[in-house]
Amino acid sequence: RGRAGGGARYFAGESLRRLVSTLVVAEHEGGLVKPSSLSALAAAEAIAKENKVSLLLGGSGPTLHKAAQHAASSHPLVNEVLVADSDVFAHPLAEPWAELLRSVQQKGGYSHVIASSTSFGKNLLPRAAALLDVSPVTDVTAISEPRVFVRPIYAGNALCTVRYTGENPCMMSIRSTSFSPTTESMPETKVAPITQVDLSFLNEVSSRKSSWVNLTSQDTERPDLANACVVVTGGRGLKSAENFKLLEQLAEKLGAAVGATRAAVDAGYVPNELQVGQTGKIVAPELYIAFGVSGAIQHLAGMRDSKVIVAVNKDADAPIFQVADYGIVGDLFQVLGELLRKMPDK
Ligand code: FAD
Repeated sequence: RGRAGGGARYFAGESLRRLVSTLVVAEHEGGLVKPSSLSALAAAEAIAKENKVSLLLGGSGPTLHKAAQHAASSHPLVNEVLVADSDVFAHPLAEPWAELLRSVQQKGGYSHVIASSTSFGKNLLPRAAALLDVSPVTDVTAISEPRVFVRPIYAGNALCTVRYTGENPCMMSIRSTSFSPTTESMPETKVAPITQVDLSFLNEVSSRKSSWVNLTSQDTERPDLANACVVVTGGRGLKSAENFKLLEQLAEKLGAAVGATRAAVDAGYVPNELQVGQTGKIVAPELYIAFGVSGAIQHLAGMRDSKVIVAVNKDADAPIFQVADYGIVGDLFQVLGELLRKMPDK
């Protein structure tokens, strides 16, 4: 049991729900809040239906302001949009961002802080938590109570239910594949106010150990691996970078993203950003097609929540078949060739 102001008594869960307010770290691109951050909003709703949510965006220029407009009408629970308008936040550098999070939390006194388990979120959250002297709860996949969470352990082979017993804020990163963004649209009259964050703390920030160099990304029309509805993945069985082009052709036809195992990445067939698994991206598409992937637990950790899994492997005993809904035991090049011939262009 907990005690609220005025001497009234509430059950702990209920009183917690009444006191919930959440700061969500929002990533944005091209003037829109990223889908992974919209999932963080869905997680805020799972904490409490009456949650008061502040969305924090950083960066500079017109895309920031466009993204702030998008954020203001992105979810009915959004109470305010906080904008940190400075070049310092234009790139995902965790050090200044952690200072920003500390400053915003100290002013806002939120009960919860949520970021997505993206590369940026994973980099930022522990640093900000250290500055605020709390322990973050990472990789949350379900929320049972405002301070009770489910998270995978042992590369996704077991689920652990944890209760956060520390001081406010309860800081957590969420797996965006586990929280579907709301489809409920905002009533037209409810557009949250946009407020500029006081950045005077920037003057006090002493040394920064990292600086932004550049961004190299593949110029592709294909969907982002983490959010794609269909993913076609290649393993070491593909045997070469050249053969991965066949997979790319199939991805073109299916409007899919291309993924890879760590063995394929380590062999230099594809860049690291395509890696799916425990130390790569976590995906949960509607359809996951794996070619020449053995199904090591570290790979399964990144794709086992996919809705339909199809595996093509010449080894009938390959562990991937234990999680596959449909399996083809055979030569992947034969199957790929046939699929490419028979499927119409998109
Ligand atoms: P292999 O295990 O070599 O399998 C290749 C498969 O292709 C075989 O099953 C074979 O039968 C099949 N094959 C070959 N030729 C053909 C053909 N012509 N037709 C059909 N099938 C064919 N791995 C990840 O993927 N993601 C991670 O994030 C990840 N993180 C890791 C973290 C740690 C700490 C460690 C220790 C390992 C991690 N790994 C990860 C590596 C993982 O353990 C496996 O080594 C890796 O997933 C194997 O990749 P693979 O299936 O492509 O290769």
